[in-house]
Amino acid sequence: MSERTFSIIKPDAVRKGVTAAILAQIEEAGFKIVAIKRASISRAQAEGFYAVHAGKPFFAGLTEFMSSGPIFPMVLEKENAIADLRKLMGATNPAQAEEGTIRKKYAESIGENAIHGSDGEETATFEIGYFFAGIELK
Ligand code: GDP
Repeated sequence: MSERTFSIIKPDAVRKGVTAAILAQIEEAGFKIVAIKRASISRAQAEGFYAVHAGKPFFAGLTEFMSSGPIFPMVLEKENAIADLRKLMGATNPAQAEEGTIRKKYAESIGENAIHGSDGEETATFEIGYFFAGIELK
């Protein structure tokens, strides 16, 4: 059954000019881009998005980074979208990511790792709603 997931092209990848290359890899892997926009989020908005990580040692760095420049939040659809996007992204730490994955190709470090992807159904629903209104998701 077709499933939706949420993804963000993070500020490091946008700064490097690899947004289109990442989107091409996502489309080539069979995902339909249901919604996408360019956005710049505040520190408080980044803290709300990553609330589940509040209190972790990397929280301040993460929310500072995510509010440091433009991002491309998007909603993607395909069968098994959540798990398949996680595979395509590669491990959180690009040094441990498999060859050919987005993070292996484009990410510099665990803190600046090019792309976000929801890690489960509930997270995907929360994250899609955080960035997109229903009317944008037809
Ligand atoms: P993801 O689902 O692979 O993005 O990883 P998590 O949900 O565990 O963490 C969210 C984001 O926080 C990651 O993509 C990283 O950018 C950042 N992060 C996670 N763990 C660490 C860490 O140990 N150090 C640093 N600097 N950042 C981290």
